[in-house]
Amino acid sequence: MSDTPVEPRIVEALHYGITPERISAHARQVVERLQDAGYTAHLVGGCIRDLILGHAPKDFDVVTEAHPEEIRLVFRNARLIGRRFRLAHVQFGREIIEVATYRAAPAAEPGEGDNIFGSIDEDARRRDFTVNALYYDPVEGLIRDYVGGLADLEARVLRVIGDPEERFREDPVRMLRAVRFAVRLQFELARHDDRLLARLGPLLHDISPARLFEEVLKLFQAGNAVANCEALCEHHLFGVLFPPSAAFAGHKYPQDSVLMRALASTDQRVAEGKPVTPAFLFAALLWDPVHEGASRFVAQGVAPADAWQRAAEEILHAQLKTITVPKRFSVPMREIWLLQSRFDRRGGRQALRFLESKRFRAAYDFLGLRAHASDADRALFDWWTRFQEVDDSGRQAMVEALSEQPEKRTRRRRRSRRAR
Ligand code: ATP
Ligand code: MG
Repeated sequence: MSDTPVEPRIVEALHYGITPERISAHARQVVERLQDAGYTAHLVGGCIRDLILGHAPKDFDVVTEAHPEEIRLVFRNARLIGRRFRLAHVQFGREIIEVATYRAAPAAEPGEGDNIFGSIDEDARRRDFTVNALYYDPVEGLIRDYVGGLADLEARVLRVIGDPEERFREDPVRMLRAVRFAVRLQFELARHDDRLLARLGPLLHDISPARLFEEVLKLFQAGNAVANCEALCEHHLFGVLFPPSAAFAGHKYPQDSVLMRALASTDQRVAEGKPVTPAFLFAALLWDPVHEGASRFVAQGVAPADAWQRAAEEILHAQLKTITVPKRFSVPMREIWLLQSRFDRRGGRQALRFLESKRFRAAYDFLGLRAHASDADRALFDWWTRFQEVDDSGRQAMVEALSEQPEKRTRRRRRSRRAR
């Protein structure tokens, strides 16, 4: 990238319906105080993109020419964070405004070396996509565009800044960000970047498993899981992220699979503001290979309970090379898998004890996904649904009715064992 300063295209923010009132009062205050202290300061990144598109921004990021120590002198409520690239968090009650100094290329996060500050146009060019590199000065009411982001926003194109191959190689996570933003904003990827993703996808193996875990949560727990999964499959990135599941993905994960149903239900929960957990997500992401592995062990004569343990072990071991799944999620994830066979055991007090256990709910929800994907016995799932709805005497009657129909029970058992 050249060192010659680039003149920005400058546009009235009002042209895009952006007024200072549409941004957080605290963010505005941070910009004003920096400017009063003699520094240039702008709002930047996702918040400007979202405002122009008419979406509510998640948060407001400020950039300035002031260096971190200078920022701290302007704000008593500022805290410097980050070791490699220091930036300031200015705290207003529960709201934190992130203030960064203009940064030069290359070394995006996680970069080597010390702070490398730069000019505002260098700061624009080190960002990932043109639509993420717009600068808004709420005092002047102007938007500065150094990389053609406004034209791309109007054309609804997601374009990498600079040479896409170079930028993807510099930080392969940008490929996942490309998929995620294209889906979320409903933008087209620019040029032939799609072919680039398929070719450069394996570079994601160089990324730390912990960082990929965070990216996977952004892809699958933010409300667009189904569309993101389809896009990842289309660009051959799904198999890179989830090697044990790669064989099941093909170009598009089958629509009626347990995974796609899990993702659809996650999207719905997110839309309703309900909590979602990575334990359930990863249980679904890895279900097919674990299921297949367990069946393989059973066919080799391993007892079912051991077969499931071994399959879970094997698949998780393979997956953890690419993506970290913290213990607090992988433990309940394995429970969801191992408990799937518990649903068959309903005699005596077994059903009641299972119902009262802490892990029942997650395992039951998972059984429901499987039943709807024809991966588990629908009648068995319906039985457990009813078992929860009726009162104590109803439950007792249901369990007793099971032993009165030994034939039916045997048949159901055999069928569900095959499905297991
Ligand atoms: P979101 O609404 O999802 O937060 P965002 O655009 O704010 O979207 P962030 O991940 O919060 O995205 O990053 C803030 C800004 O930092 C981006 O808009 C982009 O300009 C820059 N950025 C983030 N990650 C990278 C990266 N890997 N490479 C280059 N620039 C990046
Ligand atoms: Mg952001």
